[in-house]
Amino acid sequence: MKEGIHPEYNTVKVRCACGNEFETGSTKEDIKVEICSECHPFFTGRQKFIDKGGRVDKFKKKYGM
Ligand SMILES: [Zn+2]
Repeated sequence: MKEGIHPEYNTVKVRCACGNEFETGSTKEDIKVEICSECHPFFTGRQKFIDKGGRVDKFKKKYGM
């Protein structure tokens, strides 16, 4: 956890278990996911807004942010 109210926000590479890689904003250096918008049928057929918000919350819980 970085100090300060405003954490440093970088563009990082996300690697999915399906082999897909994409960039996103995060305070972490690297992110690995088991599923992404490219390989999950729910995300590919649904609104991307829900996808993004849900995964951010998941990341926060998973990495204790
Ligand atoms: Zn994937």
